[in-house]
Amino acid sequence: MANYTAIAEALKAGNISVQTSSDVKIYASSFSTHDQTQLVMIKEADTKFLIATGSGALYDALEGTIIGSVKKCPLSHANRLVLNQYFDYTVPRAFGTQIATIGLGDRLGIASPGHIKTVRGHDIRPILAQQSIRELALTGRDYKQVIDAAAFAVFQEGYKDGYGADGDHLKVEADIQMALDLGFTMLTLDCSEKIDTTIELATDAVLAEKYLHLPEAIRTHYENRYLDKSFTAAGTTISFDRPTLIRNVLIYSQAIDYMKHIYRTYIENASREIDFEISIDETSTPTAPESHFFVAHELYEDGVKIYSMAPRFCGEFQKGIDYIGDIGKFEQELAIHAGLADDFGYKLSIHSGSDKFSVFSLIGKYTKGRFHIKTAGTNWLEAVRTVAKVDPTLYRNMHSYALAHFEEAKAYYHVTTDISKIVPLDIVTDADLADTYMNEDNARQLIHITYGILLQAKDEQGRFIFRDAFYQTLSEQEEAFEQSLISHIGKHLTLLGK
Ligand SMILES: [Zn+2]
Repeated sequence: MANYTAIAEALKAGNISVQTSSDVKIYASSFSTHDQTQLVMIKEADTKFLIATGSGALYDALEGTIIGSVKKCPLSHANRLVLNQYFDYTVPRAFGTQIATIGLGDRLGIASPGHIKTVRGHDIRPILAQQSIRELALTGRDYKQVIDAAAFAVFQEGYKDGYGADGDHLKVEADIQMALDLGFTMLTLDCSEKIDTTIELATDAVLAEKYLHLPEAIRTHYENRYLDKSFTAAGTTISFDRPTLIRNVLIYSQAIDYMKHIYRTYIENASREIDFEISIDETSTPTAPESHFFVAHELYEDGVKIYSMAPRFCGEFQKGIDYIGDIGKFEQELAIHAGLADDFGYKLSIHSGSDKFSVFSLIGKYTKGRFHIKTAGTNWLEAVRTVAKVDPTLYRNMHSYALAHFEEAKAYYHVTTDISKIVPLDIVTDADLADTYMNEDNARQLIHITYGILLQAKDEQGRFIFRDAFYQTLSEQEEAFEQSLISHIGKHLTLLGK
């Protein structure tokens, strides 16, 4: 057990660099004071606590157990709210459109300290809390826990430059309301259910017929605004002849109505700034420049201001691996998408943005450094890489389980994984596990898409097969995990010009 008297003395003296005993880790960067209260985060037997000494409102507000002259406080939701009340920097915030941001989805709730060490001092701000409803379901977490984990990480690291919280790919109003009520500062509206993907592939003749069934008021609105008109944007001319207009109205008009509705109902009336992102990336074909313009123009004509827009780019942005496609063509389209975002005043957002090493420098260049980029699964892969290095047996068991459940996981994701190309486990030495699998696309995707299955897997007695061992290993190896993130996400920042 920790020597709490020694910790209390160190806290009172403001000298928390002392190591009081071998089984306790003190996070010196967390040392904070408010009035007569001193506070520090420690880890004891793989569990983190706040240790408070002194007296006053902050001391009283924290829930915990009094042991001698300290109060030992769990990293509970209630204590996170107390930290929020006394230390502003632990509250998530919006960033607006003038600084680059990176979404660092942390499905495990333990990656944020490494992420903070990665971005600290760089010209970019982290969206540490970023989860979709699907990720919550697959990991068995909720939105309170997601912000709690991020806020405690910020406190642990003493990181005062601000962080955001993104309700990612939200589709339904109840989830939007919940996320905003819980303090989320960014909202990524996923309009995919309002976008009819069958229209994208239909012929002009079929669409012309379908268009006539739309209410006349809608047709008149769009025809007055766009038909046979040309606009100058992103240094190019964007025109709408009848077939182009019909196509865009049929694909996007419902989605546009929904964006406006969400903005009017939730964003405009929020009592604080919200970074409102529009995602139109979940379509079956790349977003044409005129479609990007059409959506943005409709929003801005009606006074809807957004923080960022995520179009679907040409080529493939698959999870956890590099860009697949024609880089020259990508560059041409990126120039227009980035130019449009610039003209309207929002940021271009890049989804599935992890590991796109061959196009990061282009993204940095054409957005002039004003972008939002989302990463998520790659952070889980770095956790798995760490486990592969330090606990080969655990990695082998997870790998085999993932292979056995690959088809099940594939239902949720668009990936081109060829599992026959994954090197068989029995010919790889323990020392080579991490490099063999975490540097190879097919194995990366296998592990990437099976995270939910692996974390939720239970034996016949209802005990987790991997979850507890996985978390324990990462807690014991937290410096190694941090180093992995610093190196991997750091490479993203460098190539993006940050
Ligand atoms: Zn997306």
